[in-house]
Amino acid sequence: MLIIEKIQNGIVIDHIKAGQGIKIFNWLGLGKSQHTVAFVVNASSSIMRKKDVIKIYDAISINYELLGLIDPNITVNIIKNELVIQKIPLQLPERVENVLMCKNPRCITSTEKYVPHIFHLSGKETETYRCEYCDEESGAGDFR
Ligand SMILES: [Zn+2]
Repeated sequence: MLIIEKIQNGIVIDHIKAGQGIKIFNWLGLGKSQHTVAFVVNASSSIMRKKDVIKIYDAISINYELLGLIDPNITVNIIKNELVIQKIPLQLPERVENVLMCKNPRCITSTEKYVPHIFHLSGKETETYRCEYCDEESGAGDFR
């Protein structure tokens, strides 16, 4: 049996869809960081059948917008002195920059490489975004 030490101070990213954990681990650059990280795959869950959990043994700053775009159902708990002191509500970000890429070949972002790819949330239910410049649609799923 694997025993994971209790976190003194740090962050627990919970309720990650099983199989998605490795992507999140990579997107947050945790493998390249100096922090101690426990990565649990296929943990049993009462709400979900199986889930992944990432525990970071340090109070680091992470990109919650990116995390919300990956999956707004993930829960993030901030731990201090072994207690949960804050739960961060995730949501689809209203605006993302250089995360979603515009696929319209006639868009300025395709012709001018220095122009950042900016998308705005256009449909919460459908998780759709629109390019700031040409209105081309992109889904949050295109990033995942
Ligand atoms: Zn565009």
